[in-house]
Amino acid sequence: MFKHYNHNFPETRMRRLRRNESLRALVRETTLDPGDLIYPLFLCPGKGVRREIGSMPGVFQLSVDEAVREAEEAAQLGLGGLLLFGLPETKDEKATGAWDNNGIVQQGLRALKDSAAAQKLVLIADVCLCEYTSHGHCGVMIETRDGWTVDNDPSLELLARTAVSQAKAGADVVAPSDMMDGRVGAIRQALDSAGFQQTPILSYAAKFASAFYGPFREAADSAPQFGDRRSYQMDGANLREALREIDLDLEEGADMILMKPAMPYLDVVRAARERVGVPIGAYQVSGEYSMLQAAFEKGWLDHDRAILESLLGARRAGADFIVTYFAKEAAKLLG
Ligand SMILES: [Zn+2]
Repeated sequence: MFKHYNHNFPETRMRRLRRNESLRALVRETTLDPGDLIYPLFLCPGKGVRREIGSMPGVFQLSVDEAVREAEEAAQLGLGGLLLFGLPETKDEKATGAWDNNGIVQQGLRALKDSAAAQKLVLIADVCLCEYTSHGHCGVMIETRDGWTVDNDPSLELLARTAVSQAKAGADVVAPSDMMDGRVGAIRQALDSAGFQQTPILSYAAKFASAFYGPFREAADSAPQFGDRRSYQMDGANLREALREIDLDLEEGADMILMKPAMPYLDVVRAARERVGVPIGAYQVSGEYSMLQAAFEKGWLDHDRAILESLLGARRAGADFIVTYFAKEAAKLLG
């Protein structure tokens, strides 16, 4: 009656195992657990501050006291950890707010470390300078024949100083996101000589220059005042280069790697998973969050299912954990 190309049909019928939810659950290959999710927080000065970010509904800039409340909720939901970003009181060319022992992230780390929530959460500090520099770039600037750009080697010293001050303040993990050459080695060396041999480095090994970071720049107030980040973040077309970046970061001493963004680069996550044995995280970035939120607001996508599917996709690609602004909502859905 029908011409069919499946020569095992009708003996083989794939639908047999999809018949009901218990069968589907039994043969499910990939799992998603609240403990796989890392929730980013944006710390700002003040008290009782909870300022919603316009382009990221449901995400807030939080003063330290509010961040502690958020951490308590995150711990209760069983999340894996928090990733901390800071909005300093003032910015300058040397990114003083990043490495100051009394910087906003350092204050936050001390307060969080003192809370009961911290016992259950991994506190990860983002190591970068762009939120703290007056020009919004990820290092110190120098003028070259190609225009103004980040001066690689002098920036390493500031990044290393930032990581040490964060470890001192209580960071369980430091996560350099700047994409300077040699930063992982510089940070490892600085941590070791300051007595933090046990502090792991989660390197943003493959961070692509992406349009999907747009809303984050409002959240962290870190938009470059001029130029862009394409002379240090990776070209979105390059997979082999991403694998070289990963190899180099591991040689320099990275303990885990983070891939950013997630959805447009899941093939990179998969390639990394097949190549290296270290734990891999994927960062579902602000733009991925905001475009889903926009679609939810319009009623164009099913909120619950789209959130879980977007996270499951990253897990299936090979991510052990996912940094996501949906962490709390996803944990509630996963029950
Ligand atoms: Zn940066």
